Amino acid sequence: MKKDYYEVLGVGRSATKDEIKKAYRKLAVQFHPDKNPDNKDAEEHFKEVNEAYEALSNDDKRRRYDQFGHAGVGSSAASGSGGQYGGASDFSDIFSAVNDMFGGGRSRAGGGAPFGFEEFFGGGGGARKGRASAGIQGTDLKIRLKLTLEEIAKGVDKTLKIKKQVACKECNGSGSKSGATESCKTCNGTGEVRQAQKTMFGQFVNIAACPTCGGEGRIIKDRCTSCYGEGIKLGEVTVKVTVPAGVQDGNYLTLRGQGNTGPRGGAAGDLIVVLEEIPHDLFSRNGDDVVYTLAVSFPDLVLGTKVDVPTLDGAVKLTIPPSTQPETMLRIPGYGIGHLRGSSRGDQYVKVNVYVPKDLSHQDKELLKELKKSQGISPDAHNDPHAKSFFEKARDIFS
Ligand SMILES: [Zn+2]
Ligand SMILES: [Zn+2]
Repeated sequence: MKKDYYEVLGVGRSATKDEIKKAYRKLAVQFHPDKNPDNKDAEEHFKEVNEAYEALSNDDKRRRYDQFGHAGVGSSAASGSGGQYGGASDFSDIFSAVNDMFGGGRSRAGGGAPFGFEEFFGGGGGARKGRASAGIQGTDLKIRLKLTLEEIAKGVDKTLKIKKQVACKECNGSGSKSGATESCKTCNGTGEVRQAQKTMFGQFVNIAACPTCGGEGRIIKDRCTSCYGEGIKLGEVTVKVTVPAGVQDGNYLTLRGQGNTGPRGGAAGDLIVVLEEIPHDLFSRNGDDVVYTLAVSFPDLVLGTKVDVPTLDGAVKLTIPPSTQPETMLRIPGYGIGHLRGSSRGDQYVKVNVYVPKDLSHQDKELLKELKKSQGISPDAHNDPHAKSFFEKARDIFS
């Protein structure tokens, strides 16, 4: 048995629209599911109140209700409004489910939640909060800096000319000829606009960056013609970069606040200098050591000698001891790359190779033939006990 709508709202049959509205508000607040969690009676009451109000607040429906009773407002009142308002409690359920899914409500968006609520609903991300200065933060700038191995070995100071966004000189970066700004009328200076958005979960209030002022809260008066009101222009600046010894290809240095200047007095972004090592013609790098390959003649390897060897610090005399075998690594301590941490340096290694000439004069050939006659100049397999037994065994097997 349905209750009388007037009774539900506690008003007389001659109540004015305003009286009905007042009564409804009071009851709706009293029985709202948020205030009465897990209270079935309150929920029922809430539905009734809503249903009654929907019927009595509409002139046409109220007339029909007065004339025909519940039958007059029919299914639209009985199920339609019940469905609509009864959904209110379901709605809050869904809302909290949504919050769980996306790691928190609006208040937490951007505060560490991997997937902010606002971002999901396509707004708010542009609204800048807690702005320290006027304007918009400038972007980071990334440049590549090529370095020779010599520069990397000892570290180097570089002066670079870079093109970047700099503050407009005409307006001192304000974007305005006179420097005057005024509070944005669209957002009343807050930089944010609230938009009601209907989604499959219901209606949400969405906070987005103000489209008029771009989230700055202020708009400029008499726009500077030189920078079109942006407060920034493309310019060239010189930047000093100190590269420490021992850096590697792909390392980068971050110069705080040396990136692009932000529009209209915004703070500058960072300058990120990505380091690139130019391959060296003579040396290869192995950590903080460098390796140089040296070709030595056969007589010098046998007899030993002193040769000039190139290093990152110029020529250094290196002693090749007698009977040095090919592939030997000779070390020149302290001639490598400076360690990134600490003041010492790596070493240079000299890899010894035998020099085998391709073109020989007739005379040279005769000399070598002469040399060949000497015993002990060629590896004699038959004098090597291991090789000797190998050949003897091989003869037994294959003969
Ligand atoms: Zn605005
Ligand atoms: Zn300007």
